[in-house]
Amino acid sequence: MAQFDYLIVGSGLFGAVFAHEAMRKGKKCLVIDKRKHPGGNVYCEQVDGINVHKYGAHIFHTNDKEIWEYVNQFVEFNRYTNSPVAFYKDEVYNLPFNMNTFQQLWGIKTPEEAKNKITEQVIASGIKEPKNLEEQAISLVGTDIYEKLIKGYTEKQWGRKATELPTFIIKRLPVRFTYDNNYFNDRYQGIPIGGYNKLIDGLLDGIEVRLQVDFFSQREELTKLADKIVFTGKIDEFYNYQFGNLEYRSLKFENKTLDQSNFQGNAVINYTDSKIPYTRIIEHKHFEFGTQNKTIITYEYPDEWSQGKESYYPINDSRNNAIYSQYKSLSEKETKVIFGGRLAEYKYYDMHQIIASALKKSKDYLNK
Ligand code: FAD
Ligand code: UDP
Repeated sequence: MAQFDYLIVGSGLFGAVFAHEAMRKGKKCLVIDKRKHPGGNVYCEQVDGINVHKYGAHIFHTNDKEIWEYVNQFVEFNRYTNSPVAFYKDEVYNLPFNMNTFQQLWGIKTPEEAKNKITEQVIASGIKEPKNLEEQAISLVGTDIYEKLIKGYTEKQWGRKATELPTFIIKRLPVRFTYDNNYFNDRYQGIPIGGYNKLIDGLLDGIEVRLQVDFFSQREELTKLADKIVFTGKIDEFYNYQFGNLEYRSLKFENKTLDQSNFQGNAVINYTDSKIPYTRIIEHKHFEFGTQNKTIITYEYPDEWSQGKESYYPINDSRNNAIYSQYKSLSEKETKVIFGGRLAEYKYYDMHQIIASALKKSKDYLNK
């Protein structure tokens, strides 16, 4: 008899939700994480009373009432609505692409004028069936917006030409012909009051968590500890990179504490000009309407990924997707290991999608 029913590798949202559901079914779980803290990329660090989103800004949003009610069991959410602003040279635009953006760019006032302007530019581009991010972006919003607000940001964010990137990345952003700066279309949105750690602590309450334990440094011993493993780390590493490395985009964060109460007047400002090396500046206090005398800002720099750096964004181009499908085929033959989460599924998932996926997988396996 193994000591635990489940060994859960990774205490991010996927691991924490799975562990919580397993515990509710009476299963004994051990969660390990190689980092010093639980929570994966949603972890926040409290500095001067401000929750600093240590691994990039996280805004929770979902259209699914069940997921919303699920997270609200553990923590209440505030009314934060993400409305980033874009700086291009000395021009300022509202995001996502909506009537405010179109008005600022073209001086037009009505949806009809905006639609005509975009249609004119799409026809002039000659694009009929978009095959890459550049063509997809121009088809959605025309060439002016593409050149000022998309091309520079996208190419520095991904370190690749927009013509070499998949279309789905740009389809994440709404395009609206109303004066509405809400970055998401979802019905529910907010930031946990008191920070994301409250959500993670609630999920992991009553479960043994061992930190600074890398699965691969004690693979054999750890594997023996449990009947089943839930693996949320990198799938290529799990299989010793036998089909090659999966590529990622990494990030570097530079934090500054400033002796002023309000630096930029918004939580998120995007810098869409290719000459500015960072993609966005985050001012963390605005996620929680903070009134502190100080403020903490983070410059987010895209970074070329290499072995040993944090793997933030999967690069779902054809090369990487082909490698991933080979690993996936191996994973489907496993009887003891369940794979889930952003790294194990090599997928650009948002938090609500990770929670939905962990709930579904836990239901499938725990009810077996
Ligand atoms: P992770 O959070 O990455 O957790 C995996 C955990 O496994 C980590 O703690 C890691 O240390 C651990 N681990 C890995 N390998 C091992 C090993 N070998 N041994 C032990 N432990 C291991 N989503 C939104 O909904 N809204 C947003 O605004 C948003 N913003 C984002 C901004 C950025 C910059 C990024 C990168 C992501 C953003 N996301 C956002 C997505 C969100 O972060 C993810 O959907 C979610 O956190 C993924 O959870 P996970 O459990 O799959 O992975
Ligand atoms: N994007 C852009 N300009 C912006 C914001 C986003 O071109 O001002 C593009 C870019 O390619 C980015 C994608 O839209 O990778 C998705 O943006 P999102 O804000 O959803 O990215 P995330 O917050 O996940 O980094």
